[in-house]
Amino acid sequence: MATHAKGERVFRGIGVSAGVCRGKVLVLHRARRVIARREIADDAVPAEVTRFEKALSQTRRQISDVQHQVIQKMGVKEGDIFEAHLLMLEDRMLVDEVIRMIREQKTSADHAFHEVSERYTAALAAIEDEYLRERAGDMRDLTVRVLDNLLEAKSELDLRHLTEPCILASHDLSPSTTAQLDKKFVLGFATDIGGQTSHTAIMARSLGIPAVVGLQNISNELQDGDYVLLDGYNGNVIVNPTDQSLFEYGQLIKIKASLEEKLQEIKMQPAVTLDGKNITLAANIEDQNDIEAVTSGGAEGVGLFRTEFLFISRATLPTEEEQFKVYQQVAAALKPNPVIIRTLDLGGDKFSSHLQIAKEVNPFLGWRAIRFCLAQPELFRFQLRAILRASAEGNVKMMYPMISGLDELLQANALLEKCKEELRAEKIPFDEKMEVGAMIEIPSAALIADALAQHASFFSIGSNDLIQYTLAADRTNDKVSHLYEPTHPAIIRLIKFTVEAAHNRGIWVGVCGEIAGDPVLAPLLIGLGVDKLSAAPSLVAPVKYIIRRLKLSEAKALAEFAGQCQSPAEILAHCQRLARATAPSLFESES
Ligand code: PEP
Ligand code: MG
Repeated sequence: MATHAKGERVFRGIGVSAGVCRGKVLVLHRARRVIARREIADDAVPAEVTRFEKALSQTRRQISDVQHQVIQKMGVKEGDIFEAHLLMLEDRMLVDEVIRMIREQKTSADHAFHEVSERYTAALAAIEDEYLRERAGDMRDLTVRVLDNLLEAKSELDLRHLTEPCILASHDLSPSTTAQLDKKFVLGFATDIGGQTSHTAIMARSLGIPAVVGLQNISNELQDGDYVLLDGYNGNVIVNPTDQSLFEYGQLIKIKASLEEKLQEIKMQPAVTLDGKNITLAANIEDQNDIEAVTSGGAEGVGLFRTEFLFISRATLPTEEEQFKVYQQVAAALKPNPVIIRTLDLGGDKFSSHLQIAKEVNPFLGWRAIRFCLAQPELFRFQLRAILRASAEGNVKMMYPMISGLDELLQANALLEKCKEELRAEKIPFDEKMEVGAMIEIPSAALIADALAQHASFFSIGSNDLIQYTLAADRTNDKVSHLYEPTHPAIIRLIKFTVEAAHNRGIWVGVCGEIAGDPVLAPLLIGLGVDKLSAAPSLVAPVKYIIRRLKLSEAKALAEFAGQCQSPAEILAHCQRLARATAPSLFESES
């Protein structure tokens, strides 16, 4: 959508990679390919199948090359993105369908492959889940490469040979093309389609190239040579920016650079308030590839290791040995800082294709997390053993997700005891004193926190779920997002009650949901008595920055006010006022 102001035009999309750039546009027109049906003779069928298989192997080699370059340039995690491409290439259903079409319909390999892959892409694009839907982009990427190889053509401009810096505008940009962009020449890019979790967006963030996606029709609206300013923070693309806009963005760049400098200065300092209260600040991670981000972000270890991602992004279940190696690698790398491994939290919006869990009407209220694990003791046992074995490193703690009542905690602990006995019998070392905590993310758990505290070494409040279950507002549903209020008095009371119950039994409480990484809300949590916060690695520094400028007494007064106020909006306004007064630099670019 474009708006006009004094000769400038503003297009609004989704900012997926932070930063501001300006320069001349280069539009990549990728004409829609029309692959006409070309009939082949009976005796030409075997050669056509061979031609198709050759194109597949050629594509496999190219993708592996790109993957290799990406691993070298960006890291293993980014390289892993291309595993999805390689898996699609290996997909027997897709390959067999194309071969069947060549044989039965006597049609060329390019036509058959194009037809089948378009169908796959359309099916992926229609999926409700955002993450899976965006895999359609990976399929398109692959289709272009296979067709290029079949037709011995080159459809996308070769961006490796640009000679002048530019801002790219295109309908879409494939992850493999994005991976090969040269930052010297590609200042930023803007695309018609795409979302936050597309692999193209992930690549842009890793490369540090500002990017705006979801701009609908920008590739047709812009011409080569147009002068634009691209704002990856707020998702704006401004064509022919006025002097006023250029000035404002100049200021924004300065503000961001100066904030970055301030964050760098305190990153490795302790998270201690002005009046001496120490808060442990840890990071949330999904796998071993996040270790670097934890250390460079200034976090004191890991407060939440979401282990389900080890189960989701692969074709088979990880074995005990594989899990052990990952947990041990993380623990060893971050020693002596603690690493809290959360046991499997599958279900809800996180599914694993190979576990074949039946679709439920209310997945968030269904067979999820600890419920699923207690019903699958063999699968759970492998994970418990793997975590226990990693605990020999000495800095591992473990916690159970979605505890709703005492029985679940006792059952899980009993299973853990059995695993310990097995390991003792097998003479495999583990930490006999490993702390085991319960997540508080269901109102029932918060309300019986005093009972749970007798059987747990610590609590970690999963506020994402605690808010959704308390307010009955699905955390993934935009239509009820206005009800999803972290400052609702009910949430404040549940957190307060949990903290009091824990402290009465002498155990500590952390928060590991999104609110822990929000500098506006962190002071409220600290005022409520929370001992530890755990957030995405990139959010640790801003939270640390505000803690180091905060007085515990101010945080306590805020919590006191929140405990008596009935209005979520008023509580939020107080939080914002304190945060802005305490750390104005964090909010300068917003005003
Ligand atoms: C939470 O619910 O706050 C939490 C940290 O767990 P997840 O977001 O993985 O459900
Ligand atoms: Mg949760």
